[in-house]
Amino acid sequence: MTNGSIIRLENVSKYYIAEGKVVPALEKTDLTFASTGLVAIIGESGSGKTTLLNLIGGNLNPDSGFVYFGNKKIAELDDANREDYRKKQIGFIYQDFELIGHYTARENIMSALLLSGEKLETAKVKTEEVLHKVGLKGHADIKVCKLSAGQRQRVGIARVLARDTKIILADEPTANLDAENGKQIMELLRECANDHLIILVTHNLDQAKDYATRIIKMRKGRVEEDSAPCLLELIRIHTLPKNLITTNRLKIPLLPLLKWDMKSSAIQNILVLLFLAMAGLIMIFFYSTYYINSDETPAKIFQASAYQNSSMERIAVVRLDGEKISSRDLEWAKSLKYVETTDLYDTVADIRYYLEEGEDYEYDYLSGRLIKPLDETNYVRSASSLSEEDIYAGQMPEKENEIVICSEDETLLGKEYGSYLKLVIDSSDTFYYQKFKVTGLLKGNSGQAFFSNAFCDMLNAYYEGPNCKIHFFWNESTQTFGQIASALPQIDRNLNGNTVVTRKAYLSMFRNAIPKGECQFVCRYYSDLGNLISDRKVIDINVIEKDYTNSNEDIEVFTHVIPNGATLERVFINESSFPFIDVSEELFYSIYDTGSRQMSIYVEDYAYLDRVLKKINESGDYIAASTYRMSAKYFSDDLNVNRERLIAMSLFVLLITAGAIVFVVCMIYMIRKKEYLILNKLGMKPYLFQLITFTKLALLSFAAMFSIAIILIILYNIRTTLVLNYLKYLMIPQFVVCAILFLIAVALATYIYTRIIKKSFI
Ligand code: ADP
Ligand code: MG
Repeated sequence: MTNGSIIRLENVSKYYIAEGKVVPALEKTDLTFASTGLVAIIGESGSGKTTLLNLIGGNLNPDSGFVYFGNKKIAELDDANREDYRKKQIGFIYQDFELIGHYTARENIMSALLLSGEKLETAKVKTEEVLHKVGLKGHADIKVCKLSAGQRQRVGIARVLARDTKIILADEPTANLDAENGKQIMELLRECANDHLIILVTHNLDQAKDYATRIIKMRKGRVEEDSAPCLLELIRIHTLPKNLITTNRLKIPLLPLLKWDMKSSAIQNILVLLFLAMAGLIMIFFYSTYYINSDETPAKIFQASAYQNSSMERIAVVRLDGEKISSRDLEWAKSLKYVETTDLYDTVADIRYYLEEGEDYEYDYLSGRLIKPLDETNYVRSASSLSEEDIYAGQMPEKENEIVICSEDETLLGKEYGSYLKLVIDSSDTFYYQKFKVTGLLKGNSGQAFFSNAFCDMLNAYYEGPNCKIHFFWNESTQTFGQIASALPQIDRNLNGNTVVTRKAYLSMFRNAIPKGECQFVCRYYSDLGNLISDRKVIDINVIEKDYTNSNEDIEVFTHVIPNGATLERVFINESSFPFIDVSEELFYSIYDTGSRQMSIYVEDYAYLDRVLKKINESGDYIAASTYRMSAKYFSDDLNVNRERLIAMSLFVLLITAGAIVFVVCMIYMIRKKEYLILNKLGMKPYLFQLITFTKLALLSFAAMFSIAIILIILYNIRTTLVLNYLKYLMIPQFVVCAILFLIAVALATYIYTRIIKKSFI
């Protein structure tokens, strides 16, 4: 070190304005400091000591006069050089140490070095050197907040020594120490003064006398006494070393700083992680509440017009090319994810059946209707939904009058049920009666009966096939039939050819009783909209009449005594305004096609409906529609108000949760504000602080999302109903939306928090 003077004050004044009055902090002061030595500045409080240090340290500019560093005026340095001067030439030792309590001694020194632009490797070497020098080798890995006051000040000194600045400024460094520790620190400083200029503000004149090489006494902003005025020439400093002028931003190693930051705020980080995981879960549940309720359908009333069956899980599917549904179509549909079962005959799914007398229906003689449905929940399903393995006893239904039912009771095999089906034909209810024989049993207690494909094919024909009328009363002169009656052909396997059997009308049951003789079936084809789409098909038939009055085959005739004593007879066959007419299988299929053009797909849960619909419609071969949605057109006020409330509530909770994330994250990290201000004094730029905070919170958010995923997977696998009910509606895009909302909240928290802290940065 050249033995010249390094700092000179020339006629320096500094004024403050407090409460409208000018307060002279330093007045017309001339001082010169040699490049080494321990200079003690003493003086009463308010005499300008701190102001003097700040002027030398480049933190303040004089109001008049000049402060020189070598031959350079500090006030005239440009920003970069001034920063460089502060970073490379000036070290501060503070009364209250200004250390980061949660860093170890070594980390405190290392971070100061890194922030002043030192390379990691050199920083390590220097740190070990100074730790040794201040006698703290054995305490290097202890958190500073656990060290004694004396040890802390040693760390403070070590931190300055490590940076190896020419000038060390110390404002009351021993004020917070006991006499013994104070002495040791003074000894250490004295030692360092051999190759540094140390300017020390102190109250303790005795201490100063023992250790200082020079004592300057201040009074009211002026130098009152100077024990060893310095008269040396200023050292010539041509330029500040170029490579030190600007510290390349990117050269500051982020990783160790981030590591120490994460480590030192471990408890806050854990709190934030727990909070974020909780908030994230809350967000997912309320987002799914929102998402579930944004589907309007469940808030609408099902109107049994087009469809009777209000099953929410049913999808009706037709081929785009209008062809019949093949077994390949069924297999494809069955293979789709979330599909529980399929049924070749979709139109029959709107036909109600009443299987068991007394449970599903009872006779109602008084109302004028024969049967009174009791259980309106059962709809026809075909055996095409079943496979052999589903049947644990008996076999699949084959013939028109065979069914399988769900029951544990094997004695039911072979039992016959006299049953009704409610067909809606020409928009009026028609009860169709038949006896069904149980051929097989299914596990479970769904109460569902499955009818043979043959029977469903026949039912399906009424809906998909032509409209059938019988023309009778041949008029020779006009060569036309004089009367027309509606009729529904029904297969009777005992018949052959074009002979058709009608039943003798009992009472006035059949409105258009068809007489025996030569008649014609006239079949007209209508489109779905009711327009005639092709011409008629005419088949000559021979109608015979069968009188079942005295017969007990196949038919039951009941006589019931009604309360007033009169007797009412009812026949339990084809009780309908529509006459069903028995035809041979051959005739039936010359009128109707076999097979179905519309299949049903039943999804496992309404939650999956959209996914399956999308998949089918995207296939390009089919058109699919939810039968429930097509029939639920109008809102139920109650349900819809409830739906809208839930939407508003869940959006509100989402907002509150996002707000809570911002608030709680800011609050938790605000505890560390002081430490960031120290790091800032040591050279941490706002962008570096932002980068560290951002990285930290990004890591924590991803850790939180990962924990949430684990939690949800566990809850899902132990089949918690809460989770199943909510999660089943969510697909990847919904989780992505949740993640984005969550990350926005965290990003906002980071932004607000860093802004608040940065405001206090210098
Ligand atoms: P010392 O460190 O010797 O106690 P200071 O240098 O802190 O003295 O202060 C010198 C004078 O300047 C005091 O009168 C003080 O009140 C005033 N002063 C210091 N800093 C400010 C400030 N930022 N604003 C107004 N007055 C100040
Ligand atoms: Mg002071």
